[in-house]
Amino acid sequence: MFEYLGLVGAYIGGWYIFWHLKIKRFNNRTLAFHDISNGFDLSITKTSTQRFEAIIEYMAENDFYGKDISSCQTDNDLALTFDDGWESFYTNAFPILQQYDFRATVFIITNYIGKFSRWDYQKKRHLDWLQIQQLARQNIEFASHSVNHVDLRGLDKKQLEFEVEYSKKTIEDKIGKRVKYFSYPFGRYNRDVIEAVRDAGYEKAFALRNGGGDYAIPRIGVYLYDTPYSVNLKLMKNSWIEGCKDYVNNSLASGTIILRKFRPVNAMVKK
Ligand SMILES: [Zn+2]
Repeated sequence: MFEYLGLVGAYIGGWYIFWHLKIKRFNNRTLAFHDISNGFDLSITKTSTQRFEAIIEYMAENDFYGKDISSCQTDNDLALTFDDGWESFYTNAFPILQQYDFRATVFIITNYIGKFSRWDYQKKRHLDWLQIQQLARQNIEFASHSVNHVDLRGLDKKQLEFEVEYSKKTIEDKIGKRVKYFSYPFGRYNRDVIEAVRDAGYEKAFALRNGGGDYAIPRIGVYLYDTPYSVNLKLMKNSWIEGCKDYVNNSLASGTIILRKFRPVNAMVKK
């Protein structure tokens, strides 16, 4: 009997320590969205348009303001970030943000502008330059999510520099504004990657759940299963259940990296 109680105690204690070490480490005001669209696909990072609207409405009702990273100032400001630059940002998310006078930062992949994705296992279209320029004139901030969306930890120095520097320069040339932020593909980085991002002149870089410091700022991911209530829990209470769900989901990104190895992208380094 006591042995069982001991085992249960050790199990709960183990989870508690795990939670403290790996999960409960943020007091975070930056949300990370991906694709805002309807219809069935396998992506867990997707949020339906209705659900997105419900989340935004809930924030507004609770006196939060959706901002881009650069214009966040008070505790009530939430930075709304969107990774990958899906066309659905233009068609579905932006009209909703406009209704609430909210802003956002979109991290784009410069080799996929106006194209269908080949780096993910889904086939969806990315924003084109016309849409990006139009959005940039309407208070949407653009930042870099690399050139090819590969796991940057596996690249040599030259390829790594290309991914972080060339993407920055390309966006700056197209929109005529300085690009200050970088978001790591799959949320993955190491010391070399951080160094390359800092050397390229970025002010800050963003990870997902894991992170720390100005060059690996953690964000609260919003996923398929999230509701306004669960997003609020993540924001307000460091809920360990929500933390665990995200931790598992973040680990699933490894699955996409493995899938990608079977479908390599050509022209990694621009000749
Ligand atoms: Zn991404």
